Amino acid sequence: AQKYVLTKYFQGEPKKSDFKIVEEELPELKEGEVLAEAEYLSVDPYMRAYMIGYKLPTDMIGGQVAKIISSRNKNYAVGKYLAGSFGWRTHTIVKPDDFNTPAGFIPVTLLPDFGTHPVSLGLGVLGMPGNTAYFGVKEICKPKPGETIVITGGAGAVGSHVGQIGKILGCRVVGFAGTDEKCEYLEKELGFDRAFNYKTVDIRAALKDGCPKRVDCYFDNVGGEISTTIMSHMNKYGRVAVCGSISSYNDMKLPKVTILQPAIVFKELKVEGFLVNRWTDRWNEGIKANLKWLNEGKLKYQEKVYHGFDNMVDALVGMLRGENTGKAVVKVK
Ligand code: NDP
Repeated sequence: AQKYVLTKYFQGEPKKSDFKIVEEELPELKEGEVLAEAEYLSVDPYMRAYMIGYKLPTDMIGGQVAKIISSRNKNYAVGKYLAGSFGWRTHTIVKPDDFNTPAGFIPVTLLPDFGTHPVSLGLGVLGMPGNTAYFGVKEICKPKPGETIVITGGAGAVGSHVGQIGKILGCRVVGFAGTDEKCEYLEKELGFDRAFNYKTVDIRAALKDGCPKRVDCYFDNVGGEISTTIMSHMNKYGRVAVCGSISSYNDMKLPKVTILQPAIVFKELKVEGFLVNRWTDRWNEGIKANLKWLNEGKLKYQEKVYHGFDNMVDALVGMLRGENTGKAVVKVK
């Protein structure tokens, strides 16, 4: 068994030299425990932001989908799959019922039968990002049919999913993403009403063009200047779901910001940050709803699959640079 240990805090982009790969001896299984072998590991934006809070050296954090290869727990049979926050490691011994889920991370889930869909979706549409989209829209944005939702990070795992839920709920959906190809995918494949390349367009002009009735809900995945501009284009009583701020994760020094309080006050916005683990006790509700939409053909997905346990850092950096459309995952073998 192998695992990644973080030995240096990230400076700017993560680097291979910030980690070492360590061999692990696994003990015998005790009653109630299972041994799970990682098939897919997740790379997520929060990994870049969170590690600052850990004392080094520390095992690298992260979600994975792992196959149970040995079991001393009758509820967890060999051959079934678990999704869990086991970190960047090839093998995990876990007592699923007792596994203590750290704040911000996903609960250990025995994956339901995904039918013909790949198990890797347990890290994406049918896992943490899928639930982030589901609960973020349903519980924070609460859009009504006919309202306009704007999404930044629109082509990513969470954003592409949020937009499709918006369409299912009868809203006008406008996304921002970092390449023309991503924007074309959002409009042509996922049914977004409009999508704009935030790197090349004038944001104000795009909002005027894309949101003639202005903005009722803003699902904010990126933070920074674009968010201020979008919030100043909102309708009265608009709702802002503050989900992430990836634009600042590689460089947490305070950038030049414009003040967004006037928009919040004069438009009487409701701005709410959230972490998806708020809904840990409703975790399976989100997975079931997303699986149903998937099976009905209402929800589509793409994955960016990187290959090999040795390539975790390249995958993390690639995702932070925007190489992915949809969820970025690593196939371990
Ligand atoms: P994505 O799949 O969206 O991947 C990250 C994407 O961010 C990249 O593909 C890139 O796309 C974009 N990006 C990178 N740098 C910037 C930048 N400077 N400005 C704007 N966009 C940038 O990741 P997720 O869907 O997993 O996560 C999206 C956001 O949601 C993150 O902020 C994450 O932290 C947050 N999140 C929050 C959760 C919660 O519980 N609150 C749970 C899960 C995610 P592009 O080409 O468009 O630039």
